[in-house]
Amino acid sequence: MTNIQTAETAGNDAFRSIDAATGLATGEAFAVHGADDVATACAAADAAFDAYRATDNAARADFLERIGEEIVALGDTLIVTAMRESGLPRARLEGERGRTVGQLKLFAGVVRRGGWMGVRIDPALPDRAPLPRPDLRLRMIPLGPVAVFGASNFPLAFSTAGGDTASALAAGCPVVVKGHPAHPATGAMVAGAIEAAVAACGLPKGVFSHLVGPGNDLGSTLVQDPRIAAVGFTGSRAGGLALVKLAQARDVPIPVYAEMSSINPVVLLPEALKARGAALGTAFVGSLTMGAGQFCTNPGLVLAIEGDGLDAFVAAAATALPDAPAATMLTGGIHAAYQKGVEALAGHDAVKTIAQGKVGEGVAQGQAAFFETTAAQFLSDAALGHEVFGASSLLVRCADENELHAVLRAAEGQLTATIQMDAGDAGMASRLIPLLERKAGRILANGWPTGVEVAHAMVHGGPFPATSDGRTTSVGSLAIDRFLRPVSYQNLLPELLPACVRDDTDAPRLIDGVVAG
Ligand code: NAP
Repeated sequence: MTNIQTAETAGNDAFRSIDAATGLATGEAFAVHGADDVATACAAADAAFDAYRATDNAARADFLERIGEEIVALGDTLIVTAMRESGLPRARLEGERGRTVGQLKLFAGVVRRGGWMGVRIDPALPDRAPLPRPDLRLRMIPLGPVAVFGASNFPLAFSTAGGDTASALAAGCPVVVKGHPAHPATGAMVAGAIEAAVAACGLPKGVFSHLVGPGNDLGSTLVQDPRIAAVGFTGSRAGGLALVKLAQARDVPIPVYAEMSSINPVVLLPEALKARGAALGTAFVGSLTMGAGQFCTNPGLVLAIEGDGLDAFVAAAATALPDAPAATMLTGGIHAAYQKGVEALAGHDAVKTIAQGKVGEGVAQGQAAFFETTAAQFLSDAALGHEVFGASSLLVRCADENELHAVLRAAEGQLTATIQMDAGDAGMASRLIPLLERKAGRILANGWPTGVEVAHAMVHGGPFPATSDGRTTSVGSLAIDRFLRPVSYQNLLPELLPACVRDDTDAPRLIDGVVAG
């Protein structure tokens, strides 16, 4: 479906790649896909589904790895294009490319090992009294074609061939990507790499399609297409909720796995503050300002109990932040939303500005900001707990442990919660953890939430509004489960059973609930 045209040939319906640093259109323009293209892509995905899901684990793993190889083969042009469209620096995008390829490899390994099939066998018990038990065999199967909305803030690792696409393809689901309008040229290059891998692996073309165009209609039409069986999304709360609503209103409602909004509380416990308040303040500024703060795991909320250690933390942050350079934000729209959020905090009667970063020259320059308020004020205004996407954070000063808990109880669902602690804080930390478990998908100690390891035990998810479905993750190998459902086979003749649930299967399996082998 990729349809790259030049500015000259694309005509009035074209939309253009924008240089994030200048806000100006580059020479590249892209034909806008419409409802007909959505229908064509979904029909192709539906037609490809049975053949694709029938591929064996080795073939599907090879395909995932081939996508990675095709992405690497795009060379430096991909990096330069993504730098231009996102404003993100080279090192970050090279790292993102590595992560993109790494997560494709991770899923290839998961697929090869076969545990994803979730095989369970409860053999028949014909002599059981008072009733015999039937022969029951279970495996997971893919849901069907998946619509993926690429994220603006990870043009490689969470976009066209990013985590959602990799996990859906690993599950055996064809994918239709709705490319993010902030990086159409990057998206088109990566889509080309996936299409090359589809061809090289002899798979049906409909296994992957890429649709581009500005405006909500394209994505809305895609989510409403009856052939789409699930949706993966990363972006704004408003956008994610709009898609959830559309998906629920369909004749056949479907799951939407939307990652939306999180302010990632960081709790600074007293002993840690006493021992290293100033060092924590400096390190916090590093985490806050990384990537212009455009991370879903950015530390947007800091909580601490009043004391000397907290004062040292604030003083160090107030010293470091004014040296933090402004950075080009991903799009003019994201910058405008950031400015609005920062201005609302700066103008709030109950909020004091601790420090701000350097003012930038040029368009869409995000200036970092750190604010403070009291627990009582935070508890009286829910808006203080809303995400300001970018390098902005709010410190909430608490009088005691009870207030700290009250603030956390009032906070919305989060992707992460961080505890900075020393040995003497262990009691307080252990009282916090049950509360944090109810609020966040990942709890971390003595680190910063930015930086998400792609691994088997990672959870990048959490209660609403961090995501629309806190039972899952969008990063790490568990993400494959979002696109699978169980089927149980009762008393089927062996020759009718899928190979992975037959007696001679070598798939990882439970027999009578016990790990076999
Ligand atoms: P966005 O506006 O939600 O857009 C994400 C994707 O969804 C785009 O492809 C967009 O394309 C589509 N979309 C948005 N609203 C839609 C609707 N009502 N119906 C159908 N499709 C829709 O997010 P963004 O542009 O990436 O960033 C905007 C804001 O999102 C940021 O300022 C930030 O607040 C938040 N954000 C959060 C995270 C996070 O991980 N927490 C990450 C990135 C961004 P069209 O606009 O072309 O329809």
